[in-house]
Amino acid sequence: MNYLALRRQALLRGLKTGGQPADAILVTCAENVTYLTGFTGEASYLVLGPKTAVLVTDPRFEDQAKEDCPELGKPDGLDLHVRPHDITTPEAAAGILAKAGKAVGVEGTRLTLGELEVFRALAPKVEFVPLSGPVEALRAVKDPGEVERIKDSIRVAERAFKMFVATIAEGDTEKEMVDSLECYTRRCGARCSSFPPIVAVGERGALPHAPPTARPLSEGSKLLIDWGADLVYKSDMTRVVRNPYGTALTRRNKFERTGHQLEKVYRAVLAAQDAAIAALRHGVAAKDVDAAARKTLTAAGYGEFFTHGLGHGIGLEIHEAPRIRANSADTLEAGMVVTLEPGVYIPGWGGVRIEDDFLVTRDGCQRLTTLPRELDALG
Ligand code: ZN
Ligand code: ZN
Repeated sequence: MNYLALRRQALLRGLKTGGQPADAILVTCAENVTYLTGFTGEASYLVLGPKTAVLVTDPRFEDQAKEDCPELGKPDGLDLHVRPHDITTPEAAAGILAKAGKAVGVEGTRLTLGELEVFRALAPKVEFVPLSGPVEALRAVKDPGEVERIKDSIRVAERAFKMFVATIAEGDTEKEMVDSLECYTRRCGARCSSFPPIVAVGERGALPHAPPTARPLSEGSKLLIDWGADLVYKSDMTRVVRNPYGTALTRRNKFERTGHQLEKVYRAVLAAQDAAIAALRHGVAAKDVDAAARKTLTAAGYGEFFTHGLGHGIGLEIHEAPRIRANSADTLEAGMVVTLEPGVYIPGWGGVRIEDDFLVTRDGCQRLTTLPRELDALG
């Protein structure tokens, strides 16, 4: 049996043991459909039951489904249902659902109330059971093939970053730099960026999710870049570099005169990431890894400026299970791939965040990203 069929089997097994058992499931979230079928298009559903595995799509995606799904039509494989253009995908799925099971699970964290009402009206005999992320729970632990695909995505993001750093010019604005970073990311092999990248000049780095503006590179002494590549699987990294066209405390970066030193803040953030790396391993509570980084930053006097969680899982989505933050109930397991991204954000001065991607192992972790982490190491 191939790995996609094994994933579907694991999902069906889990449905029987939940608080409210279901005998089949309607998978509507695109990334979850990808995980269970290999199909990377959109607007398509998987209807899965003990004897049913049907990808319901429309004519736009028929050829792509045949390319993406190696097991179409094979024993234990997947069936394809291409709906005609004059009915909706929910209508097509409802007909198959009624045969797949009596109690059909739906993705309670993905489907809107309106969509659920549509399905209830289309399949009145089916009992719909809202489930909370059964596919997401399976996706949290990656198999070796998935880890390789995340590594591919990291390699592309890192190549793009080196090209970006080598080509920025004094007059570039944040907006222009984001454009060039995205262009290099695609040119190096990604289908697109894994999220809209952040390139923040000077004190704008104090906004953890700074949208790009017309501010030119010349108006800041440092640059915060948060980016990633989407090769179906995704990567996510952040680096802070000294602005090659800005010098400290010139007339041009007057906004940054608040007495903080880049070197000092950077050292503290790096030490916080080191503390998190030392804590990260199979069996540890995610909140304890967050606490390890937070404790280090607090001891350095920057605790109050670390205003977000430490990290998150990456994979088919840019933010997925597990969550590494103070209020997380997640326990880390070998095979999870997570970011560790401590940051310090000082209004009027700027921000430093260092973000790398890690594979959790039985006795520790492995850094999958390879760009140097030290300030000035990137030239
Ligand atoms: Zn990021
Ligand atoms: Zn991140």
